[in-house]
Amino acid sequence: MPGCGTPAAGGDGDLSHKPSDRTWDMPLLPRDRPAARSGAGEAGERVRERDIGRTLRMNIPLGPHDHRVPSFQDHVVEFPISPLGREAMPRDPEQSIKDAVSAAKLMSYTREISRWVRLSGSDEERLAFDYLEGTVKEFGLEVRRYQHDALVSWPGNASVEVAGAGARRVECITHAFSASTPASGLEGQVVDAGHEPLGQNVRGRIALVDGLASPARARAAEQAGAAGMIFINPPELHEMIISAVWGSPTPETAGALPKIVAVSIRQQDGEQLRAQAQRGDLRVRLHAAVDTRWRKTPLLVADLAGQEEPDRFVLFSGHVDSWHHGAMDNGSANAVMVEMARVFSRRQKRLRRGVRFAFWSGHSHGRYSGSTWYADNHWDDLYRHAVLHLNVDSTGGMGATLLSEALTMAETWALAARCIKDVTGQDLQRRRITRMGDQSFWGIGLPSMFVDVSAQPPGESATGAALKSLTGGTAHHGGLGWWWHTTEDTPDKIDKANLHRDAQVYALALWRWCTAPVLPLDYRETAAELRETLRGIQEAAGDSFDMRPPLGAVERLTAAAGRLHAAAERIGGGLRGRGTRKQREAAAAINDALMRIGRTLIPVNYTAAGPFDHDPALPVQPVPALQPAARLRTMAQGSDDSLTLLTRLVRERNKVTHAVDTATEIIERTLERIGEKRQ
Ligand SMILES: [Zn+2]
Repeated sequence: MPGCGTPAAGGDGDLSHKPSDRTWDMPLLPRDRPAARSGAGEAGERVRERDIGRTLRMNIPLGPHDHRVPSFQDHVVEFPISPLGREAMPRDPEQSIKDAVSAAKLMSYTREISRWVRLSGSDEERLAFDYLEGTVKEFGLEVRRYQHDALVSWPGNASVEVAGAGARRVECITHAFSASTPASGLEGQVVDAGHEPLGQNVRGRIALVDGLASPARARAAEQAGAAGMIFINPPELHEMIISAVWGSPTPETAGALPKIVAVSIRQQDGEQLRAQAQRGDLRVRLHAAVDTRWRKTPLLVADLAGQEEPDRFVLFSGHVDSWHHGAMDNGSANAVMVEMARVFSRRQKRLRRGVRFAFWSGHSHGRYSGSTWYADNHWDDLYRHAVLHLNVDSTGGMGATLLSEALTMAETWALAARCIKDVTGQDLQRRRITRMGDQSFWGIGLPSMFVDVSAQPPGESATGAALKSLTGGTAHHGGLGWWWHTTEDTPDKIDKANLHRDAQVYALALWRWCTAPVLPLDYRETAAELRETLRGIQEAAGDSFDMRPPLGAVERLTAAAGRLHAAAERIGGGLRGRGTRKQREAAAAINDALMRIGRTLIPVNYTAAGPFDHDPALPVQPVPALQPAARLRTMAQGSDDSLTLLTRLVRERNKVTHAVDTATEIIERTLERIGEKRQ
């Protein structure tokens, strides 16, 4: 760890065995004085000017007579290196981890990363990856860099030419995975569809629609037979990707890549075109050049191994590729990752399990092609070893004061809520994570927490409304700022204090995930969510479909998850230090169970495609495979359509019931193994 100035890393791991040892605070002087006397880490280390204000950790053996020490649980004491050597005092490790996060470093990393315009697979993006790789290597992380094939799409030049009377050119952009027009362009009559569903009236014409370009809208226009579409954006032009194919295509999904030409224009231009279109006399010629091809794209992972569960890790991920300079999306989030690498590398000896930092390409221009490739090509490793997927996106935006709508899974909600509360005082609502933002690990069954944590407060905001429609409509917040996905996403949009705050939320979350003796997964929450979902489906389906088998399974799961939680609380709570061998074994068995429960429940709760495939990038409802049961009621009983659907649904019901029962069995066997009596 060059330049780290934290000499005490050696030795805190073994302290827990020896109650006669204890760490002690030690005043330090600013310059060229030995950092500590004998027994204090590498005692000869000198304190350098630049280290003042940083944190020093050390342990000092105490005599066996010293039994005043109440507990040896937190045996390493941390304290700031103070110029006067007076403020030094023991601190709790959570406070210490929050204090270690540097706002100045976060801003400096953000500025570095956002120097480059990072189109997926471009030379500039490669330079950003080089910078990230070099920086985390300096912190001593073990780095692996991959190059893989991905279908990515770079929007090029585009124009809208208004024909006939009042002929003019309107400024526009085209989108990733839009079709290109022929060199002569695409001419057609414009039909105003606004926010309405796209009907037959757009066939062969160019649809004028409101909002940000989206895969759902593009697909609807294509299905309605539109030749092209013009999105009316807010005052700014927002770069978007219109393909719903998650990751690079397969033979089955290649046909679903968009075939429609899509462009976006500004609000004020849109209003003029709309007025003209409503008079029925608007013809335009669209030009769009989109460079879509397989490219080599980079992927970087950097490991910081834990001590007691060295093969387990939190997958902490964020995309590096960007629209324009992408200072907020996703430069500041990459900065959070780098800062966590720095801060956690100095505490590696105290991590029970590790962190795998994963930097993706192909998020913005390949519809999550990087994270999807990683899920596909490292499936088994992730299945066996990843305890969580923690994602970070668009942190520290100016005015982004709202953290109560961050997205989580039910099982990770309680911990997420505590982290947000502890840093900001805000109460996290229960908001189910949506099909977006590199959530490529649901099939594997990884519990998931966060995409972006902070957003603009609720209020009138065109980008907020647009984002809401993209994510399935549950958000109340005002989006990620008017500059999101525009040329204006530059470092001046980052608020230093907000970025520091967001990074502290991540620091605390990561710390808790990496150090908790028992993984902070609460499947009582999942059982409750499943019950509500399945009841909703039963209500919608009425008498046409019987949901009693999965509902019965959920009742059994609810009881078992309650017992598991009680055991986990008791055993985890008693394991602050090393604990007894029996306690450690019980905690290990519970952790195995908690991971396996996720592997069985998450694929049915979140996917239709299952463990080895990826659903499209479209809003998805809980337990998606059973949702079509609601349609049975609208079909004629005994009709071919209804019988075909029923055949499908019976199989899906078996799948869901079996997954829930498997989770219950995992819990029951685990409780039996650790000697928990049945109630
Ligand atoms: Zn992003």
